[in-house]
Amino acid sequence: MERTSIIKEIACFMKNYSEQTSIKTRWKKPLVGFASANDPLFLKLKEIVSPNHALPQDLLPTCKTAVVYFIPFEDIIEESNAKEELFPSLSWAVAYIETNHLIKDLGIHIKNLFESAGYQSMSTQATHNYSQETLLSDWSHRHVGYIAGLGRFGLNRWLITKSGCCGRMGSLVTEAFLSPTPRPTKEFCLHFAGYECSVCVDKCNFGALFLDRFDRHACNRQLLKNDAYFSDLETSDVCGKCGCGLPCSTTNPVARKEGWMALSHF
Ligand code: SF4
Ligand code: SF4
Repeated sequence: MERTSIIKEIACFMKNYSEQTSIKTRWKKPLVGFASANDPLFLKLKEIVSPNHALPQDLLPTCKTAVVYFIPFEDIIEESNAKEELFPSLSWAVAYIETNHLIKDLGIHIKNLFESAGYQSMSTQATHNYSQETLLSDWSHRHVGYIAGLGRFGLNRWLITKSGCCGRMGSLVTEAFLSPTPRPTKEFCLHFAGYECSVCVDKCNFGALFLDRFDRHACNRQLLKNDAYFSDLETSDVCGKCGCGLPCSTTNPVARKEGWMALSHF
């Protein structure tokens, strides 16, 4: 199978999906990255993310490739969340819920596509794949997205892609071999690229995100408050204030500043 046919299939599935009248969220063009299941960086995730972080082979022993997709929200969703100071905007909460459904359905669709071509595959959960006690993830889409060349981490701990960081990620592993996407070598976060920026830190009014550390328990307390605030919705333990209204929300701000956006597929 070709990388381009998988990318087209993902885009086509999303287009049809968002045409359903019951779906309120709109998404921009998905970004898709591919990583070798034997990439040595996967082993590093046990140090960086959690000792329990799975290897691709834990999900499917015969897999050769991890496929990761970033699904960017339409700008209006990010803008609505940036406007609200305390709680997430309704459209941000709905986008979280609807995108989780999309990721689940898309994962099943792509899995079936690979399997109809003779390659066993395994899709992963969109969210809540972490320990309730330590809040550490057993399969971090963001980190797998990094390995698959989708972007670089920001000071806010989100993965900044060429379409910014506002969106959600999904992934699956497959026996099919698809050549890995090269990883960007330059930083995408202004702070890490040596420019002055810490807007994301200023946006967190909940004592969770600092210049030099992240308190995941303080963050989680806020997510649970927000879930209770939207008690009439499905689980919506979201916040996103440190991802909205930023230079990196919808674009790679370093590429834009330095003028290398058009020169690279990143
Ligand atoms: S707001 Fe600035 S410092 Fe924070 S992640 Fe984005 S570019 Fe980096
Ligand atoms: S998600 Fe909310 S609480 Fe958590 S770090 Fe970001 S702004 Fe702070």
